Amino acid sequence: MIIARTIEALDAARTTLGPLALVPTMGALHAGHVSLVAAAHESGLAVAASIFVNPLQFGPNEDFARYPRDEAADLAALRAAGCALAWLPDASVMYPSGDATVIEVAGPAQRWEGAARPSHFRGVATVVAKLFGQIRPERAYFGEKDWQQVQVVSRMARDLALPVTIVTVPTMREPDGLALSSRNRYLAPEERRRAAILPATLQDLRAELQNDAVAESATAAALERAHTRLRDHGFAVDYVALVDAVSLEPITCPRAGSRLLAAARLGAVRLLDTMSVDMTMVREEISSEVH
Ligand code: AMP
Repeated sequence: MIIARTIEALDAARTTLGPLALVPTMGALHAGHVSLVAAAHESGLAVAASIFVNPLQFGPNEDFARYPRDEAADLAALRAAGCALAWLPDASVMYPSGDATVIEVAGPAQRWEGAARPSHFRGVATVVAKLFGQIRPERAYFGEKDWQQVQVVSRMARDLALPVTIVTVPTMREPDGLALSSRNRYLAPEERRRAAILPATLQDLRAELQNDAVAESATAAALERAHTRLRDHGFAVDYVALVDAVSLEPITCPRAGSRLLAAARLGAVRLLDTMSVDMTMVREEISSEVH
């Protein structure tokens, strides 16, 4: 595995390796990240992973300083996963002095994480655009867990005509359903046990909504019950929402391509989760019964 820390070393690696599939990360790698690398291997391209804890996507009172960092373990994980290239720029490579450009995405970036963390997606879009310019990947792999992030990156790539295919990879979960996340290590043991209530709540909500007869009032009531259940278990809920999967606009009834998004804090740890509520299958079953 080539380890590149400068643009010159990266350019040399790109010449050696040919077309690349990219997995962008902030390190503190877990099995979810490794599943992105495995998906990238399916492209048949050499796989590059980047590790960069991006200061621009953290707010002033967020956890940039205490975000977990373990370069040696991360490099060992990438090597074991068969990565051909690890790209480890430091902040001066990513944001050279005099740097004067940021990427601002409207549309899918505006609500939810965009509202809870006002400059977050500016940081994400800017660093991902830089990674695309530096690495010039044919394909880039992102986790479904950060659903809004995937929509923001996809919209940016489309709007700026960036020559890259964005691929979404399913969420990897612990046996109790909690989505793997680098921040889970900061949950106290008792919080860790309670954290599984977040995916359980979304799963139950999905089961309630994935039923063709759900009306607007029933959808609103089911969302409210999910809120209450989380609050009753000590979560500080930022949002539980039913949204259009691409525009991220809230919707009042489930339909084809709808999605649940949730963000809630347990103690100091903010947890995100998402599940599809795709009515296409339900409708197909109904229409095949009718005919
Ligand atoms: P991060 O290092 O948290 O910025 O995440 C890097 C990439 O890994 C992002 O595309 C995430 O969506 C993805 N990712 C994080 N957690 C998971 C998970 N549990 N399953 C699959 N992908 C994930």
